[in-house]
Amino acid sequence: MTLSVRHRFRASTPYKRAWQHTALRLLLILLAVLGVGVWIGQPWPLLCAGLLGVLIWHYAQLHGLLGLLNRRRRLSPPRGQGVFSELSRVLYERQREGQARKRRLLGTLRAFRQAAAALPDAVVVLSRSDQRIEWFNKSSERLLGLSYPRDLDNRFSNLVRTPRVTAWLESGAEEPLLDVQGTGEEGLRLSMRLIDYTAEEQLLIARDVSKLLHLEQVRRDFVANVSHELRTPLTVLHGYLDMLEPDDVPEWASVLGEMRRQSGRMTQIVEDLLTLSQLESRDSLPLERVEMAPMLASLLAEAEAMSAGRHRIVLEDSAGCDLLGSAKELHSAFSNLIINAVRYTPAGGDVRVEFHRSGDGGVGLCVVDTGPGIAPQHLARLTERFYRVSTSRSRDSGGTGLGLAIVKHILQLHHAQLRLESEVGRGSRFCCAFIARHCLPRDDEMADTAS
Ligand code: ADP
Repeated sequence: MTLSVRHRFRASTPYKRAWQHTALRLLLILLAVLGVGVWIGQPWPLLCAGLLGVLIWHYAQLHGLLGLLNRRRRLSPPRGQGVFSELSRVLYERQREGQARKRRLLGTLRAFRQAAAALPDAVVVLSRSDQRIEWFNKSSERLLGLSYPRDLDNRFSNLVRTPRVTAWLESGAEEPLLDVQGTGEEGLRLSMRLIDYTAEEQLLIARDVSKLLHLEQVRRDFVANVSHELRTPLTVLHGYLDMLEPDDVPEWASVLGEMRRQSGRMTQIVEDLLTLSQLESRDSLPLERVEMAPMLASLLAEAEAMSAGRHRIVLEDSAGCDLLGSAKELHSAFSNLIINAVRYTPAGGDVRVEFHRSGDGGVGLCVVDTGPGIAPQHLARLTERFYRVSTSRSRDSGGTGLGLAIVKHILQLHHAQLRLESEVGRGSRFCCAFIARHCLPRDDEMADTAS
């Protein structure tokens, strides 16, 4: 309150002074004119002439000011003290403030442009309606092969002619596009993202991920090579251990048993690592009709054999369709989930395998158990390699910590998802959700429909 009063007082002082000055000057002029008028005996005509003169002078001032404003010229600092000088001073200050603001904005804009231009990522501004290029930075030339100013106002998909990019843009580009061939320098691999920027524009960002992907490849090759190299010595070791009978060396019987168990575990880890790296190196799998009735029957038989009567195992097959996929890989994924359910559910528990249609026309294979359940903080990390909720329980039960990572990769290659629900103390539900395209009507059902 005090501040605003003080501010108003300070702001009104020159303004008041200007008015006082003008009023005083007007009074003095009129008094002088009246004095002369009285002296020559014509007070009123002279007063009228004086007032007319003052009016003309004011109009002349107004004319000059309007002329200055209309010419949009830079105003010069005003001199004098009257109301018109005050008006010129206010206009002069506003103009200076406006110019300073404009300079600041231009500076900020230039800094933004320079920052965008200096980014190592390609940044392209596209019009939303027809994806014409409005602006792009320097890196777009190297990564996308764009050329300035030739490519301005051209459609992006006419210049970057990669089928995956075209399909991605046509489908709305909601998800980022990973690992696409660059169209600039040779051998570049890019990831792209399209961001809604203003109501009329979109921002396309392409990042060079060649080094990252190369490192990922090196890591994958390393794991695959190590696993491959370990396979032969382990097979030899395993073979020799199998040749030794515990009865022949009773004093070593327990040691021999443990050695066999551990070498078996190592062999299983190596096999799982090899499976995983083979899956990672593939973009797709050969797809065929996978008949689900025999597959489910064999999965049930496996589960019963593993449970050895310790669990109630139920199969519900209401989907009435087969899957489009790779039989070997799908069997491996489903069997991993069922083995986990049997492995982690204590004796006397239930394991249910459900194969049913989902609401969106897709189909799901779910494995439900009444085991110990998994706390929510673990759920998001379960499909990471070697991630275990309880390391000792997993090891004791013969787990490698790679099962769910394998399941995730197999499902990805089938455009399917792994959905987990679990509650500690009540059990878990692992569902493989397939999209409608992978659900094929069974032959017998088609025959029924036809008849
Ligand atoms: P593992 O070979 O150790 O079973 P997985 O990748 O198959 O490795 O599973 C990762 C972890 O998820 C397991 O160690 C276990 O802690 C947990 N898990 C998997 N399935 C279940 C289940 N049905 N019930 C409880 N915990 C489970």
